[in-house]
Amino acid sequence: MSIQAIFLGAPGSGKGTQAKNLVMDLNFNHVSTGDLLRAEVEKATDLGKRVSDIMSRGALVSDEIVLELLKNNCDLSNGAYIFDGFPRTIDQAKALDEVVLKDFPSKAIYFDISLDVLKERLVNRRTCGDCGAIYNLVYKSPKTDGKCDLCDGPLVDRKDDTEEAVGNRLNVFKETIDPILEYYEQKQRLIRVDAGLKPAEILEKVKVALE
Ligand SMILES: [Zn+2]
Repeated sequence: MSIQAIFLGAPGSGKGTQAKNLVMDLNFNHVSTGDLLRAEVEKATDLGKRVSDIMSRGALVSDEIVLELLKNNCDLSNGAYIFDGFPRTIDQAKALDEVVLKDFPSKAIYFDISLDVLKERLVNRRTCGDCGAIYNLVYKSPKTDGKCDLCDGPLVDRKDDTEEAVGNRLNVFKETIDPILEYYEQKQRLIRVDAGLKPAEILEKVKVALE
């Protein structure tokens, strides 16, 4: 039976890239709770209508609803899934086990990277305003200052990538991730992958972990 994957990592740790790789290489299904919520609203089911109401009030969708969506949309007996963006709290981790994963084998993959390295990555990130290509002023700078190599579009700095905003985001992340890691470690389901390695090396380690 295939092993289900729970992806854990800070914003900028590269877990999104690896999720795409697993989908392409090993036929994993990528489950983003944001996408599931949007799809449900579009289908206008009873649940979708409730979600739409909650979101239009600017409120957060409860864990119960997210879990119900996951349960309805993931057929674990029939394939391998990557859970991405959920759990974000220890209670969500426990509930995911109880409601969705149950006895299906699963591993939590933590894309481990020092918060200082991440901060540098995020603060120096620039995105092409036209085609969305991503640059980094330190590791992957454009050939011409401020211009996209691919389409000549203007490179922009996301407003939430200022040093202070990034620092706050990472601190919040750190406080919530530690208990989640501990939870999976106790259950002997935690795999730490060095997210500072090259993407191809990271993919290899993730594949081995999920074999
Ligand atoms: Zn571009």
